[in-house]
Amino acid sequence: FLSLSLQAKMSRPVQAQRLEGIDKNIWVEFVKLAATYSTVNLGQGFPDFPPPDFLKEAFVRALSGENHMLHQYTRAFGHPPLVKILAQFFGKLLGRDLDPMTDVMVTVGAYQALFCCFQAFVDEGDEVIIIEPFFDCYEPMVKMAGGTPVFVPLRPKAPKDGKLMSSADWQLDPAELASKFSERTKAIVLNSPNNPLGKVFSRGELELIADLCVKHDILCISDEVYEWLVYDGKEHIRIASLQGMWDRTVIIGSAGKTFSATGWKVGWTVGPNRLLQHLRTVHQNSVYHCATVAQEAVAQGFQRELEYYGKPDSYFVQLSKELQQKRDWLVQSLDAVGMKPIVPEGTYFLVADISEFKSDVPDVPDSDEPYDSRFAKWMVKNKGIAAIPLSAFYCGSHKNNYNHFIRFCFAKEEATLKEANDILQKWKREKTTP
Ligand code: PMP
Repeated sequence: FLSLSLQAKMSRPVQAQRLEGIDKNIWVEFVKLAATYSTVNLGQGFPDFPPPDFLKEAFVRALSGENHMLHQYTRAFGHPPLVKILAQFFGKLLGRDLDPMTDVMVTVGAYQALFCCFQAFVDEGDEVIIIEPFFDCYEPMVKMAGGTPVFVPLRPKAPKDGKLMSSADWQLDPAELASKFSERTKAIVLNSPNNPLGKVFSRGELELIADLCVKHDILCISDEVYEWLVYDGKEHIRIASLQGMWDRTVIIGSAGKTFSATGWKVGWTVGPNRLLQHLRTVHQNSVYHCATVAQEAVAQGFQRELEYYGKPDSYFVQLSKELQQKRDWLVQSLDAVGMKPIVPEGTYFLVADISEFKSDVPDVPDSDEPYDSRFAKWMVKNKGIAAIPLSAFYCGSHKNNYNHFIRFCFAKEEATLKEANDILQKWKREKTTP
């Protein structure tokens, strides 16, 4: 009996080769640390305030209303009311007629939209250009599709004397960017507004990318999940609206970020049918269908926003106003204690320089772990504030180039940000009083 059970034990390797080297995930590690130690969680990107009432009410209506069919499967590529309103809304923004059945597809969050893009477009040996720092899942997703990620960094320029650095000071070097395009390049991933820096790409920067895409006949996967979160009167420009780009761009969006409901996991893709038809192939052979009730509620949310478009009562207008205030609070708190903030133009993230705090968390020479990662772990354990090391947004071998920054999420209640401020002030006092 014993020998039989020994024989029954599997000994062959079970892991598919394409998973080689992508088993680690920063969120799994840091979400656990935050849950265990943090009093103030400014780590993972989600609001600690509720979504707007009109959205919650729409969900409740969908859930408990007359139409019991909302508890069943809906159309695989998107609940009809949602794709219709998305086509109308984005059609207006892009100034073109969109067919809800072919030019829009609903996904399980922006995450699945990204996954569909890489699976649909990337072949073995294809290269995909990724701008660093980047939302970390792009790299493993390209690799899982058999592709090779090619990285190009945003390079920081020193700010003017006495001024805080802005996310706009992080720029692409045009020659360096151009040098990454080759015959093997299939696509570039653009994320504007950018997580983690909060950079909002200017028209000039987008034109530079667009010209290269057209010249080399390359696709653009445009992750625009923070499209409504832009500050100081900045404008979010959609690269798909530039010359020659509609035909080669997939726009990715997220109801989680748009309506402060990240747990609903409703996302979408917008683009021409010739691209989206391949996303549908991936979707129908993997997820097939997204939660109907959540889609119905998001559809109603967009219906409401279409009515209020550009008006002061629009949630999109109000949210960015509120978040700009929260950004300013966190900028002030960090600046006051010498954790130099890079002022973001968009998103609800802010990256800060921890160089002045090195005496609290001494460097360990020759350590494999980037300094900011050890710092963030130390900070959550000893100070109760959770943040994410910037090195997590760089590829393996580049992690040590930008290892003295951490990323905070400021989509938090005033009380949460105040608590963070109190902890930082106390920390600063302890540092200065021997
Ligand atoms: N793209 C970016 C840049 C993000 O920051 C996130 C979420 N943090 C996503 C995509 C995934 O969005 P969702 O929650 O809708 O899947």
